[in-house]
Parts: sequence; structure tokens; C-alpha cells
Amino acid sequence: RKTLEKVIHMATERTLILIKPDAVQRRLAGTLLSRFENKGLKIIGLKMLQVTKELSAEHYAEHVEKPFYPLLEEFITAGPVVAIVAEGPEAISVVRSMMGSTNGRESAPGTIRGDYGVSRQMNLVHGSDGPEAATREIKIYFKPEELIEYSTSLGGWVCADD
Ligand code: GDP
Ligand code: MG
Repeated sequence: RKTLEKVIHMATERTLILIKPDAVQRRLAGTLLSRFENKGLKIIGLKMLQVTKELSAEHYAEHVEKPFYPLLEEFITAGPVVAIVAEGPEAISVVRSMMGSTNGRESAPGTIRGDYGVSRQMNLVHGSDGPEAATREIKIYFKPEELIEYSTSLGGWVCADD
């Protein structure tokens, strides 16, 4: 029991996940949220919202000048998204590996993009790609008071490591 308590606090990270408009339209929001819950991540923030052009430009600042940005903006503002803050050990890379690579035609079966899509643009999910991005993106989508800190009795059973 001591061991479980010790490791549960190891390398805990928070990451921003978006269930993108294509996934919401395809009624996959619950299915995809379940995948993150089943993996053992803790949901500490959750909301549905409509991304505006301004929010899109802030979120995708690194892509605004790229040729595909107008299409990306049209896509991400085309319908509501579900925004999630997930917490867990190495949550950022865990979520990235669950998502699969950007292009659904190339992402591995077993990943979200590999299992549900064939598009490079309409690829169902967003996940922060590093600690700085996670901090920045969580602030864009959530006020501090919208992140709920709580413990679960299952914590030690999903986070324990050697
Ligand atoms: P991610 O980190 O895997 O989400 O990929 P990127 O950061 O490279 O791109 C952000 C998002 O822009 C992707 O998830 C896609 O929705 C979209 N995207 C990326 N590359 C392209 C592209 O070449 N064409 C179009 N239309 N959309 C793209
Ligand atoms: Mg990216």
C-alpha cells in the first residue's frame, strides 16, 4: 500500500484534449471520452463549446500562416467541440500515442485516428504536444475554477508503476 501511494504522485501531467467537430457530428464523443477514461486518465475538466475564429487562431497560432490554415479554421469552427482536461502519469505523451499520427490513413490501427478516420484534416481529436503547449492550451479553454481537483479510490490501482 505504501508503494502504491508513493508512485501515484509520480510525473503527473495535465493535457488538453479536444473532441473535434467531426467526432461530435459522428456521435463519437462518448466513445472517445470512454477511451481516455478506460486508459486510466482522470477527467478534471469537461465542457462543450463552439470554437470561434478568434479562438481557433489562438489555439492554432503555430499554424495560422500555413497554407492549410483556412481549411483548418473552417473545420474546427464548423460545429461544437468537447474540451477535456485529462490528468495522469505522463498524460501528454499517453494521449498523443492514443491519438495516433495526424493523417488517419497512416495512423496505426488501435489508435483513435487509426480506428475511426481516413482524413488528414478531420482527424477526430486534438491533444497537446508538450508541457508548454498543455499549459497554454488549458488556459485558452478553461478558467482555473473550471478544473476540478478530486481524488478517486481507484487512483493507486491505475497509476502504480515499478
Ligand atoms: P496534430 O498535432 O497531429 O493535431 O497535427 P498538426 O499540429 O500538424 O496540425 C493541426 C491540425 O491541423 C491537424 O490535427 C489537422 O486537423 C489539421 N492539419 C494538419 N495538417 C494538415 C494539412 O496538411 N491539411 C489540412 N487541411 N489540415 C491539416
Ligand atoms: Mg499539433
